Amino acid sequence: MAKSGVLGYPRIGAKREWKKALEAFWAGKLDEAELDRQLQDIRLQHLLKMKEKGIDFIPVGDFSDYDHVLDTATMFGIVPKRFSSYNGGIVPKSIYYGIARGMKNAAASEMTKWFNTNYHFIVPELDGVTPALTENKPLLAYREAKQLLGIEGRPVLLGPLTLLKLSKGSSELGIETWLDRLIPLYVQVLQALEREGVAWVQIDEPILVTECKDADVRCLQTIYEAFTASAPGLKFMLQTYFESVEAYRDIIELPVHGIGLDFVHGLEGNLSAIKALGFPSDKMLGAGVINGRGIWKASLSDNQTLLDELARYVPAEQLIVQTSCSLLHVPVSVQGETRLAPELRDALAFADEKLDELVLLTRAVSAGGDELATKLQRYDLAAQALRQSEVRNKQDIQQAAATLAIHEPKRGKPFAERTVSQREKWKLPVFPTTTIGSFPQSAEVRKARQLWRRGEWNGAQYVEFIRQQIERWIRLQEEIGLDVLVHGEFERTDMVEFFGEKLGGFAFTQHGWVQSYGSRCVKPPIIYGDVVFQGAMTVEETKYAQSLTSRPVKGMLTGPITIMNWSFVREDIPREQIAYQLAYALRQEVQALEEAGIGMIQVDEPAIREGLPLKEAKQDAYLNWAVRAFRMSVCAVKDETQIHTHMCYSEFHDMIDAIDAMDADVISIETSRSHGELIGSFESNTYSKGIGLGVYDIHSPRVPTVEEMTNLIDRALQVLDPNLFWINPDCGLKTRGDEETIAALQNMVKAALLTREKY
Ligand code: GLN
Ligand code: ZN
Repeated sequence: MAKSGVLGYPRIGAKREWKKALEAFWAGKLDEAELDRQLQDIRLQHLLKMKEKGIDFIPVGDFSDYDHVLDTATMFGIVPKRFSSYNGGIVPKSIYYGIARGMKNAAASEMTKWFNTNYHFIVPELDGVTPALTENKPLLAYREAKQLLGIEGRPVLLGPLTLLKLSKGSSELGIETWLDRLIPLYVQVLQALEREGVAWVQIDEPILVTECKDADVRCLQTIYEAFTASAPGLKFMLQTYFESVEAYRDIIELPVHGIGLDFVHGLEGNLSAIKALGFPSDKMLGAGVINGRGIWKASLSDNQTLLDELARYVPAEQLIVQTSCSLLHVPVSVQGETRLAPELRDALAFADEKLDELVLLTRAVSAGGDELATKLQRYDLAAQALRQSEVRNKQDIQQAAATLAIHEPKRGKPFAERTVSQREKWKLPVFPTTTIGSFPQSAEVRKARQLWRRGEWNGAQYVEFIRQQIERWIRLQEEIGLDVLVHGEFERTDMVEFFGEKLGGFAFTQHGWVQSYGSRCVKPPIIYGDVVFQGAMTVEETKYAQSLTSRPVKGMLTGPITIMNWSFVREDIPREQIAYQLAYALRQEVQALEEAGIGMIQVDEPAIREGLPLKEAKQDAYLNWAVRAFRMSVCAVKDETQIHTHMCYSEFHDMIDAIDAMDADVISIETSRSHGELIGSFESNTYSKGIGLGVYDIHSPRVPTVEEMTNLIDRALQVLDPNLFWINPDCGLKTRGDEETIAALQNMVKAALLTREKY
């Protein structure tokens, strides 16, 4: 009989109870004991739910008080040296949260993306640390589930290879030396689990989908030989996810009892490896067929076909039907969604609904029979209905986007020529100054939006309020002396939601939250139909701003790739097609702005890197269509219309070719985190279009001095062409206060004036 398994469950709770508890604790409104009690409540509810649904392998220890990578690091005493009050032993909450969020005398650890998801983990720092086991977290989690709920859980541990490869500071001593230190600590954890009577342990090694060189294979052999030899009574499930595993041939030889593979995001690679090399008869196969990252109901009959295919290589007794990865990446339940169109709602499956899918599918592959077959088919009906529905079959849009995509989207003239027309038209000084788009969203702005959304203000009142904000900031920008102005984005809460609400084909859930980092959750829109441009989205505000000033006002849009990467998207067509549809819609907005007399238009693509596939071999193809989609959005404008773009949040130094191919007239880019490196790569790639390397970090309320900024500018101008250089902050100013923003921009303009004198 096949079994069902879950690799991890969302922590945040259906009503974000987890987030609220954490934040109350940080605010001093909950004491430690009460926090622990509330978190335990949430955890037990989740476990109970999985038990009641009938899941066989229930994860324990995947729950976290902040982040599972931080949990693993602190369990092994990996606490950065600067947290000097730490003296070994169990890491106190103050330090645990200090590492994540910063403390009085010690800055927080870095945070970075968990593979290609929108979850961010805390990067462990190994420098100068002597690791030691501080507490056995998986054991505590196992005991809790067993004693309080009678659940025989499967403890989840982040594997040593992934832990080390994601950490900073292992290079000095080398991974092998670090493994020598960590393996004995893992062994202590495992032996205690063995003594406790644990049957299976899930060891997550997602790093194995990105790289697995010979040296890594040797590390894996060392690790798993040590584990199985020291805890022979335990069964090890070596778990991978997010793509197909590298070095399949070597991985299946490892001394473990099960191997977990992702058959959603790594379907092609994993399936062909099994077909070519078979699957060992002494191991269980964790078949990740239920998408842990998508929000749609599975096609259970397709899944059954896949499992039938696998059955040729792996008998049912060896099979675990499981999620493709932890369910951390999807919202909790569709239950509370009362406002969605029924055809959409019926086609959704969040974490809880996926539990039902697992159980149903497992029964079907184990037992078969007509009754179950009919059930599976019936289950697929909702997805079929949505596929056939009108929202997904807008022929005109599909055709227009496809036609646009056939032709190489190109501006009328190359940059070198259009820049001449643009110079003539705009007559900007050298080193023009500008900002990235948003100005501070004060409490007053948020209040106004609430009043309007609740119906206490009518549309006209709200519009009038927004106009006042725009006017105030146009005047302020003029007084500060900026060259290219913006309207300030006061009407937008969020750069994706704003456009999603105005385009057709988008839906918004009430409770579809997912954890982004720590207690921060996001509620991505759902792109469930063809994307329809229903009328101008930004023209009114931009035109109004322009009517107030003789200086150019830059229009402000979010790019197609960012809208897509920050949404949940339909899965019946390739992402590439969705990007083109979005591009087609944005192109109409760009044209509308141009027709309204807006001659500079910025199309932000901060999230372009987030869609980058994990496998290097797939990256070029992605960048190609991503760049194409961007160009489709902007290329229809006149030569003298200046297209800007903006990027932030991550490293771009290895993407300069793609950035160049976007062919924007001006790019503004966040540099605070890797200024030197970035300048270097722009130089070595002879990037020769307008560029504004952010001259100050907007993430801090501190007002930068003129000198700090001139220093940065001077450094950049050692390699970049002064005629192409723009001066701007790092990113939008939405989260800052008025006073500090004005002071910082005044200094920035002074820095620009000084620079103009020098060059
Ligand atoms: N134009 C946006 C703003 O200024 C850009 C935000 C971003 O890059 N994340 O807010
Ligand atoms: Zn930004």
